[in-house]
Amino acid sequence: EYADVPLRVDGLRKEYGDFVAVDRVDFEVKRGQVVGLLGPNGAGKTTTLRVLMGLTNPTAGQIHVFGHQLVPGSPVLSRIGALVEGPGFLPHLSGLANLKAYWAATGRPEAEAELDRALEIAGLGASVHRRVKNYSHGMRQRLAIAQAMLGLPELLVLDEPTDGLDPPQIAEMRRVLKRYATDGRAVLVSSHLLAEVEQTCTHVVVVNKGAIVASGLVDDIVGESPTVQIEVSDA
Ligand code: ATP
Repeated sequence: EYADVPLRVDGLRKEYGDFVAVDRVDFEVKRGQVVGLLGPNGAGKTTTLRVLMGLTNPTAGQIHVFGHQLVPGSPVLSRIGALVEGPGFLPHLSGLANLKAYWAATGRPEAEAELDRALEIAGLGASVHRRVKNYSHGMRQRLAIAQAMLGLPELLVLDEPTDGLDPPQIAEMRRVLKRYATDGRAVLVSSHLLAEVEQTCTHVVVVNKGAIVASGLVDDIVGESPTVQIEVSDA
């Protein structure tokens, strides 16, 4: 029924003991959309993304990826490229060797073209030949984003991708994400920065204390609702 919808989240709830980290979260990510999950630290963004990558089970609710209900180990996870937890790079290998190893493990062909495209997006230049142990945090972050984009997955899920990047790299990342969502692909990206979501996303889901406080087109939500801005920027 929702076979063409990259992501559909219904009534998501996650409890840790007595603490409710995510409560009644519903949203959709459609093809062509860059959806920002916006909220202050502790709002439940990472928890939401971890649940939808199958890294932890929800207490309640359902997630559908291209119409398939997501359960841990679902084959449909292979249609999602994700940067949710820092990938464990092999420190003594170069950035390029790490991506090649990762790609080989997915068992897919046409490696060179896919790698080249991802590396171009990452913009690491000649640094791809250096060992990852000598990378700065920002370089690791860019390599991780390149890895998530390998093979141009139809749905890209990124947790705070601009963390550790400098302003020119952040600007470039915005361009990359906008371009990425063309050709029917979709992006879900978390952020605690309103300005970032405003400049990057088509749609926004604003969360606070685990619950959605506003959602819709960025142009409709941002600016129109000063309380949303205050809550978010106060964090
Ligand atoms: P941040 O930007 O800081 O990662 P966030 O919006 O991603 O914020 P989460 O990391 O999802 O927030 O955390 C939401 C709440 O759930 C926080 O109060 C956090 O302390 C709590 N929490 C997260 N993971 C666990 C856990 N494993 N056990 C107990 N509480 C947790």
